[in-house]
Amino acid sequence: MEANASSKWRFQANQELIAASSRSLRNVVISLMDISRREEKRPLIPLAHGDPSVFPSFRTTVAAEDAVVNAIRSGDYNNYCKSLHGLLPARRALAEHLSRDLPYKLSPDDVFLTSGCKQAIEIVTAVLARPNANILLPRPGYPDYEAYAMFNHLEYRLFDLIPEKGWEVDLEAVQALADDNTVAMVIINPGNPCGNVYTRQHLMKVAETARKIGIMVISDEAYAYLNFGANPFVPMGAFASIAPVITLGSISKRWLVPGWRLGWLVANDPNGILAKTGVVESLKCCQVMTCDAATFLQGAFPEMIEKTEEEFYSKIIKLLRDTADTCYDKIKEIPCLYCPYKPEGSMFLTVKLNPALLEGIDDDMEFCVKLAKEESVIVLPGVVMGLKNWLRITFAIEPSALEQGLERIRVFCQRNSKK
Ligand SMILES: *Cc1c(COP(=O)(O)O)cnc(C)c1O
Repeated sequence: MEANASSKWRFQANQELIAASSRSLRNVVISLMDISRREEKRPLIPLAHGDPSVFPSFRTTVAAEDAVVNAIRSGDYNNYCKSLHGLLPARRALAEHLSRDLPYKLSPDDVFLTSGCKQAIEIVTAVLARPNANILLPRPGYPDYEAYAMFNHLEYRLFDLIPEKGWEVDLEAVQALADDNTVAMVIINPGNPCGNVYTRQHLMKVAETARKIGIMVISDEAYAYLNFGANPFVPMGAFASIAPVITLGSISKRWLVPGWRLGWLVANDPNGILAKTGVVESLKCCQVMTCDAATFLQGAFPEMIEKTEEEFYSKIIKLLRDTADTCYDKIKEIPCLYCPYKPEGSMFLTVKLNPALLEGIDDDMEFCVKLAKEESVIVLPGVVMGLKNWLRITFAIEPSALEQGLERIRVFCQRNSKK
């Protein structure tokens, strides 16, 4: 009866959307949190996803809050955004801001404002997804790239990052994977999930490899300038004269306001190749189809950039350096975990799990589920990022909570270790 009744309906859910969204890391984090909440043991300590904005030490600057309030109060931004690619003053301010570390000047026309960096990923994937094309993605990487590639029927191929070399791109693997249908490669710098910050020399080699193959580089710089180690942050756009670069970014991480949803996509194209190949035109078309970033945030953005004090940036950098140190040092004390690289940027480190030292835990997923259940600590299983038996841990949370969380992990590993 039931089956008969429903078989009359002609519609069905889009199974591809369901398959693609299962790649999303949000799904895994939410289900681990549910497991932990069911136990109701202790306050949950979230070391899986990078959103420190809920912790008092990571509150954004008042200057940014004021900029938004002023924009709203002005009454000038209640309308639909009048420009297709974002308000001109906001694009101009961003172009200037990003040009500081480039050997050429960006124009406001190179800048597209989006609803967070996530929408920039969505747009760039849609633009590149012509039939038979493929894109090269880092492993470990950021799962949204795979999700949007799948959904857009853009084939993706994974190249490895090398832990022993500061998670540098395996450039030989990139060349081996590429063929005539390869259109782009993605790098994430500073790195999520590895906390790497690439040297100028390595970025130049990435550009040269891309040029040899004839592809563009998509540089995810969601964590731009959140670096605290020996290597300075160098934007990939600095090498755009070697191979064209599309830079993705947002205010989410640097200003600690991921809920505000303002991001960008920038065509770093000093030789006009992205324009000549029609990529810039199709970015424009794509932006016509998608929704804009909220107009009042675009209105607030120039003031945000101008008024944010140097002390805010340096306070956050110091905090991240300290919490990264705490995290790295504590992990070193835990025999079943190994961190090959001390993070120098972003909000994460990636550690190798040795399940052979543990009783009744066979892989990273089991580790995370059991840890959530027994200790109410959430860390991200590496399988989600393509690395089985690794874990991603964020150190960007309130320092006292971080110490508690790491102590619980230590106790958990000790209790579950083979005798
Ligand atoms: C957080 C993040 C994004 C998404 O940024 P939003 O601005 O929150 O949409 C994209 N890429 C990486 C690597 C990230 O860590």
